Amino acid sequence: MNSNIVIYGNIYTVDKKNPKASALAISDGKFVYVGDEEGVKDYIDKDTEEIRYDKGIILPGFGEGHGHIAPGGTEELFFVHLNPMGTLQEHLAAIKEFVKNRPEMDVIQGSGFVPTPDMGPNGPTADLLNGITDKPIVLADIGHHSYWVNHAAMERLGIDKNTPDVSDGIITRDEQGNPTGYFREGAMDLLKELTVFSVEQYKEGFLHYQEEYLANGETLILEPIINWDTTDNAAIACHELDMEGKLHMHIYAAYQVFQAEGHDTMAEIEHAAQLREKTKGSMFEITNIKIQIDGTMPGTPSTAYMKEPYTDPWSIEHQHRGQLRFDMETLIKIYIKSHELGFTVHAHAIGDGALSMALDAMEKALEQTGEHDYRDAVTHLQVVDRADIPRMAKLNVIASTDPHWFDFEPDYFEMMVAVLGEERAEAQLPMKAFFDAGVTVTSASDYPVTNPAYPLAGMQKGVIRQLPGRPDTLHNARERVTIEQMIEATTINEAYQMLCEDRLGSITVGKEADLVVLGDDITKCDPEHIQDSPVLGTMVGGEWVYTCK
Ligand SMILES: [Zn+2]
Repeated sequence: MNSNIVIYGNIYTVDKKNPKASALAISDGKFVYVGDEEGVKDYIDKDTEEIRYDKGIILPGFGEGHGHIAPGGTEELFFVHLNPMGTLQEHLAAIKEFVKNRPEMDVIQGSGFVPTPDMGPNGPTADLLNGITDKPIVLADIGHHSYWVNHAAMERLGIDKNTPDVSDGIITRDEQGNPTGYFREGAMDLLKELTVFSVEQYKEGFLHYQEEYLANGETLILEPIINWDTTDNAAIACHELDMEGKLHMHIYAAYQVFQAEGHDTMAEIEHAAQLREKTKGSMFEITNIKIQIDGTMPGTPSTAYMKEPYTDPWSIEHQHRGQLRFDMETLIKIYIKSHELGFTVHAHAIGDGALSMALDAMEKALEQTGEHDYRDAVTHLQVVDRADIPRMAKLNVIASTDPHWFDFEPDYFEMMVAVLGEERAEAQLPMKAFFDAGVTVTSASDYPVTNPAYPLAGMQKGVIRQLPGRPDTLHNARERVTIEQMIEATTINEAYQMLCEDRLGSITVGKEADLVVLGDDITKCDPEHIQDSPVLGTMVGGEWVYTCK
């Protein structure tokens, strides 16, 4: 049998049956041989291209377990970028500059601010944005859990004193009941009309992301909220790119559903199923239902849902358990309905209370639906009750972890101690504990919350849990994992989470030929330099989609 391409090198397959190889052959976009130089000879004829890498390592294409490329790609192109460390004055200057330079924008959108006390005791206000422009301004915080908007934005949408509160979010109001311009969690929905991008803008955004991340070895991604702006535009954009042959990254997507005023949760799951049929292709498919069970922390008040009370960072008196966006009955229904329609459920749970609820709901759903293999995932997992980890293993729930977040600046950690107390703060963001309990662990970045979010940087952070040369940023050293575990989490386990491990995720005969060639052997190099290894080439389906010039 002849092949188009034969590659020689240090091949790390992530295939337990055949872990190391020195040669591989590719034909018609698939691996047809993975073994030694002697064995590959049978696959070579005069037309075969032979490539040899004397150093470095060859790995399966990298995966991203939770990256918001729908908003992320468009944000790169059409947003004002606020520096999270910046002051209020710096934010205002950046917005003014953007307004001047981008006159074509009907709505001024931006992201990246951190709500700090100098913006006001109850978060930033519309008044702060007075005098900049007559156009609506909508700014997302760095974690995309709140919007800071100007008066023009509220006026355009008719949001005022009479706008009713929402059950899954917070409209911040002044003493007279007027919205002040700060909308949290589910209340962000009220502004969504202003944050819509067109299909064409999404296409530009996806291609922008794809080019940058293929150059960093990423070939597979879960986009966790394809309906970010509540439209189908991003899904249609991915589908059109797929049909045009322009998608070179495998994109699986989740469709987010809600339980709140104006939402019919079950009808939204049905809509997702229809959209799946309309948009599915070889490189793009909607396979997940996304639920955001709780919110984020810190904030005022914080919205992560915990088993035990915790404190708000800027108002020590305020002790609470956070905020839930679903009740148990609805969660159970979501799991049942999603599974019936062939969807996996991807749940956002940042607090230990939210994780437990997700697991309880899955257990209850299973009682009705019986054994399953849906690969439901829970993501973020910042505060975790250790007692829930064996439950995750038993239920075959995937731990979608965020290694990029595994270090803490000392000041920030001090604040987290004030918020959570020492014990919970120190145990944050486990990873090794999941591996030890036999849970399938994947790696995610929550891009653009982490930005840039290159896979090698995530792998490095999972191994060292600190910034290079900065031992003062080390967090929870007991949860360090090995580079081999990080590779597994970033390749085969991502494919397992996305139910495509029969086609992707390892260098195995019969699978699609997706691989990354690195200039340094990251299994042998100094762990503080994993992320410095150059990506020499990225291949998807037997075609080079990136080569280092
Ligand atoms: Zn996310």
